[in-house]
Amino acid sequence: MEQMDEAFLTELDRLAGINNLRVLPEVRQNGKWIEKEGARMLNLSSNDYLGLASDVSLKQEFMSEIKEEDFLFSSSSSRLLTGNFPVYTELEQLLADTFGAESALVFGSGYHMNMGILPAVADGNTLILADKLVHASLIDGIRLSAARCIRYRHQDYTQVEQLLEKHHTEYSRIILVTESVFSMDGDVVPLARLVSLKKTYSNLMLYVDEAHGIGVRGQHGLGVAEEQGCLHDIDFLCGTFGKALASAGAYVVCRKVIRDYLVNKMRTLIFTTALPPLNMAWTRFIFSRLGEWTERRKHLDMISSRLREAVQSNGYECASGSYIVPLTVGSSERAVWYATELQRKGFYVLPVRPPTVPEGTSRLRFSLTAAMTEEDINLLVQNIIPRTV
Ligand code: PMP
Repeated sequence: MEQMDEAFLTELDRLAGINNLRVLPEVRQNGKWIEKEGARMLNLSSNDYLGLASDVSLKQEFMSEIKEEDFLFSSSSSRLLTGNFPVYTELEQLLADTFGAESALVFGSGYHMNMGILPAVADGNTLILADKLVHASLIDGIRLSAARCIRYRHQDYTQVEQLLEKHHTEYSRIILVTESVFSMDGDVVPLARLVSLKKTYSNLMLYVDEAHGIGVRGQHGLGVAEEQGCLHDIDFLCGTFGKALASAGAYVVCRKVIRDYLVNKMRTLIFTTALPPLNMAWTRFIFSRLGEWTERRKHLDMISSRLREAVQSNGYECASGSYIVPLTVGSSERAVWYATELQRKGFYVLPVRPPTVPEGTSRLRFSLTAAMTEEDINLLVQNIIPRTV
């Protein structure tokens, strides 16, 4: 070890001492199962909400219809140079048409999306209002921007109204940043309420990350915005392809002028190699079928409410309204112990600890997929340890 590495080691030791040391687990996912160290467990830690990621017949169908020109494992360039293959435009057109919007723009990942859009559109005359619990990628995007940011208490829209009233004349633009389904708490945002604020505050723009809503919520799977009838009222309607859509990458659905602006200003779009055309073709294939998976969405809904009820009836507070169901135990130590117990019993659930979640709210995070059966959930429920124990 080099002498200058000692400080790294000290910090790693400190993390280990407080039960917060992370390691990359050696695992293999296969449908609803996961294999780890020779054991097969029910995978309660994936974001494959519709259970599409290892669907063999879908893969076969895709392979049988893939065009030669899309069969490329690299785009070899940024989209602004030579990487803008036709499949990009086709996917963006499909997104815009399906959402009934003027345009859409696709990115390499959700992280690129959030870290790139916000600095591009939020200047020194902008105020960002962001929920206290937004994802790390949104926080990093905010940090990189020149805007002032105020974090409001989680889902406290009375506070949002007060902040808007106080500050709306001071800034040319106010951007409210939120997720639609929160990634760690699974609670759902009343987007329609936020949209109604735009009537009073004409300089308010809404930035909504539907990473955990796209594919799963709404009649056609277009997310919480579809479910709440406000698809056309959100200025930056963002989502990712790496979760329910079983692919990789991300998108924003927006007005054309915003798209043109991002193409000129967004550094994480301009200075990165575009995703491979093959991947884009797969995303297009999956996205074009989204409307077909109503039964999967209904089933997921049913098993999710079963689990939520069980968590609550075992004495845990749970504000989730989705397939992300936290079981909050408090200390990191307790969360690690509980997760190990469940893994031993065949349920692959991971402890979520600070800094991912606030101090004192360490938890197990159950994340369900439509591939799970009612029996799978019943077995899990039987293994929940009541809070008093
Ligand atoms: N936004 C949210 C709310 C997320 O939960 C995540 C990933 N967990 C991302 C963005 C990042 O998306 P990606 O994995 O495509 O980088």
